[in-house]
Amino acid sequence: MSGSLHVYYGPEILLYDFGPGHPFNQRRVKLSVELMDACELFQANGNTLRPIQQGTRADALLFHEPGYLDFLADASITGEGVLDHGDTPAFPGCLDAALWGVGASLGALDAVMTGEGHAFSPGGGWHHGYRDHASGFCILNDGAIALAAARQRYGIQRALYLDIDVHHGDGVFYGYYGDGWLLDIDFHQDGRTLFPGKGFAEEVGTGEATGTKLNIPLLPGAGDDAALLAWREVAVPAIRAFRPELIVMQCGADAHAGDPLAMLEWSLGAYTEIIASVHALAHEVADGRLLLLGGGGYNPANVCLIWPAIAHAVGDVSLPDRVPDHWRKSFEDAYGRRAPERFSEPPTSATRPLQAAARCVDDLRRLSPLIGQG
Ligand SMILES: [Zn+2]
Ligand SMILES: [Zn+2]
Repeated sequence: MSGSLHVYYGPEILLYDFGPGHPFNQRRVKLSVELMDACELFQANGNTLRPIQQGTRADALLFHEPGYLDFLADASITGEGVLDHGDTPAFPGCLDAALWGVGASLGALDAVMTGEGHAFSPGGGWHHGYRDHASGFCILNDGAIALAAARQRYGIQRALYLDIDVHHGDGVFYGYYGDGWLLDIDFHQDGRTLFPGKGFAEEVGTGEATGTKLNIPLLPGAGDDAALLAWREVAVPAIRAFRPELIVMQCGADAHAGDPLAMLEWSLGAYTEIIASVHALAHEVADGRLLLLGGGGYNPANVCLIWPAIAHAVGDVSLPDRVPDHWRKSFEDAYGRRAPERFSEPPTSATRPLQAAARCVDDLRRLSPLIGQG
């Protein structure tokens, strides 16, 4: 297959808007894509920026329950109330807006599955959405829908869902908890200290799926060293042993130091090492079938460094050292705060979280036959 990267983004992504003051805001997606463009991602390697199509009710039904979609259709008309227990307000057209994100991710899936290249849907990655309810700013779950579509429409027999968002990807994880065709590897801040309060190492799947669900909860303060230890010791051997035919990766940017909603301390270096490894593994085991999704990230300066860094790594275009000045002005106009200046940061480390990550690796070696005994 082609090694190009196709980014699926259109202005319709901005319709997903919980209003001023809500922490989840899709302007960071627009600015990230503009920075990819400013850094010439789409001028080499056959990489493209593509418009999106809206998903349909039939698409959403691949994962969600009909009664829940009826509830959303009603909430979409009134635009009033909340869709979950409080974090996810309804707004007029909320179902339509969510379906645009679903359509973006399904368009990206089609590009991957038809061999056009790798693909990135930065407006999606709504990993908290459950089959029958909203949660954590996620109305629908585009990642879970894309996995179902890969299986039902393209006959995929084994897939990997990899989630590096700081919050546990509970909608996908528990949505497929008994499904042995899905290897789910989820890095997140320990659920005892962060929403949604789930995702512990001993939860490894049930029945035929036992050993295919791998949680890596990291203690607050965990730096690059803890993340990369678990990456090398758990994720890499599990992916090689499972040999997925498709990799779907949720690239939430909120594990970075300085996120206002969470307490991990990753630098850009953790992201670039993980994405380089995922990209190589996608070519090694999955014929290059790599679908990237966005996700959380509540410090827009961090998001706007991480997503271009990921896109340029997979699209095989090197980034400049300095962030272009004309893009920095757009960022500062949009957010009224200083834009990032460079695509490089010093690595981070923290001893106690590193020791805890090593214990987690030992636990998972005991609990999942996919991971070698080291
Ligand atoms: Zn490639
Ligand atoms: Zn998150």
